[in-house]
Amino acid sequence: MSYQLLKQDVLFYQRFLKANGFYTDILDGKWGPKTDAADAAFVQKSQDIKTRFGAVDSKSESNIITLIPAAQISARKFLNILTTAGKDIRILSGTRTYAEQDALYKQGRYGSTLPKVTNARGGQRNHNFGLAWDIGVFENGTYLGTDSKYKVISPMVLPQLPELEWGGNWISFKDFPHYQLKAVSESVAAVRNLFEQGTLYV
Ligand SMILES: [Zn+2]
Repeated sequence: MSYQLLKQDVLFYQRFLKANGFYTDILDGKWGPKTDAADAAFVQKSQDIKTRFGAVDSKSESNIITLIPAAQISARKFLNILTTAGKDIRILSGTRTYAEQDALYKQGRYGSTLPKVTNARGGQRNHNFGLAWDIGVFENGTYLGTDSKYKVISPMVLPQLPELEWGGNWISFKDFPHYQLKAVSESVAAVRNLFEQGTLYV
């Protein structure tokens, strides 16, 4: 998703802004002056983080801007560690709004002949709260999808970034490209409740 899409789901974006201290008004899904001011403050904060940790490739930049500030900082540290180690790692996805997640869920269902891509609706994935990102491993400019290329990445970053959780350590479904900030609860439902109230969950 993109920053522009984040702004299109106004209720979602207000929750995101409120949980992270940029917005203090009611969550009404209407874009008014206070939402506008909160948006500007979030963009400025994101810019400050970028200045502090340095710019990365444009694909990663477009996804980092969709993460909450704490995750933006970790994602930039993550990329910096790997760049220093000579790796070409890019962040291929970040936040998905509920509307986007619901659209993905509909693919392959309700008469759609496309293949199913997810079993999660909006609010059922950590990607829906601005915490998580998925990486792509590149070599000589080419994207690589083999698990082994992803398994070598986590030991390079996790010791230095203890705030992160890696999808490759999950028991039920191993998600090797997935990284996220550890939330206050391992329960996605609990995180969702906090997010929807506009309360911080990391
Ligand atoms: Zn993921």
